[in-house]
Amino acid sequence: MLLYVLFFGVLGLVFGSFLNVVIWRVPRGESIVSPGSHCPECGHILRFWELIPVISFLLLKGKCSRCGLKISLRYPAVEILTGLLFVLVYLFRTERNMIGIILDLAFVAFLIALAFIDIATFRLPDVLVLGIVLIGLINPLLTKDPLFWLSLLGAGTAGGVFTLIAYFYPEGMGWGDVKFVAALGLYLGVPGIFSAVFFASLLGVIIGGLRIIVYKKDFKDPIPFGPFLAGGAVIVLLFGSKLRDILFFLT
Ligand SMILES: [Zn+2]
Repeated sequence: MLLYVLFFGVLGLVFGSFLNVVIWRVPRGESIVSPGSHCPECGHILRFWELIPVISFLLLKGKCSRCGLKISLRYPAVEILTGLLFVLVYLFRTERNMIGIILDLAFVAFLIALAFIDIATFRLPDVLVLGIVLIGLINPLLTKDPLFWLSLLGAGTAGGVFTLIAYFYPEGMGWGDVKFVAALGLYLGVPGIFSAVFFASLLGVIIGGLRIIVYKKDFKDPIPFGPFLAGGAVIVLLFGSKLRDILFFLT
């Protein structure tokens, strides 16, 4: 098992490194394959030893080796987060077969990319949301978890409710969130998507509150909802069946 944990951890680190490219380039409309990774300031093309997840950041002391431009802490943070979530998918999604695990890893990768892009730009690029729609359609066909009609019901109900919110309360909810939550509903199905929205709201209240108390932010300061939806989706993905057991036990 330790070998598998190591495998998924390293896979996640490497994939996280790729997600950093996605997070930087997709909102700018740049290709994610070419040109190779380079410093946005001086154009220095990164050499092999500068592309190793986390380790390169430490070796370079968080700076470009040529011009000294500070490299955002987001780079190692995304790599470590991806590594951690890949390991958790392996450890907690024990009921899934190999195809299911691969789909879950892809799902988590899309969530990380969308969450960090939303934080940086207040946008959820359609191309990445479509990625979730695609695996959300494949998932029930290949793994029967959730069943296909529950998957469609998840997309329809969550998308419907959020459409109403976006229509009547456009300041608080963007159409990007509507499309995102419908895609999540497709992947998580019913009742998973309802739990995901519940946890997203809970996280939003806690973090929104902390921002006001600790950072003295204004209540009206905009805060993207995408990262909370992604967080809620990860909680349900990893602990969904266990959460149901706990709720069942309590009632
Ligand atoms: Zn540079």
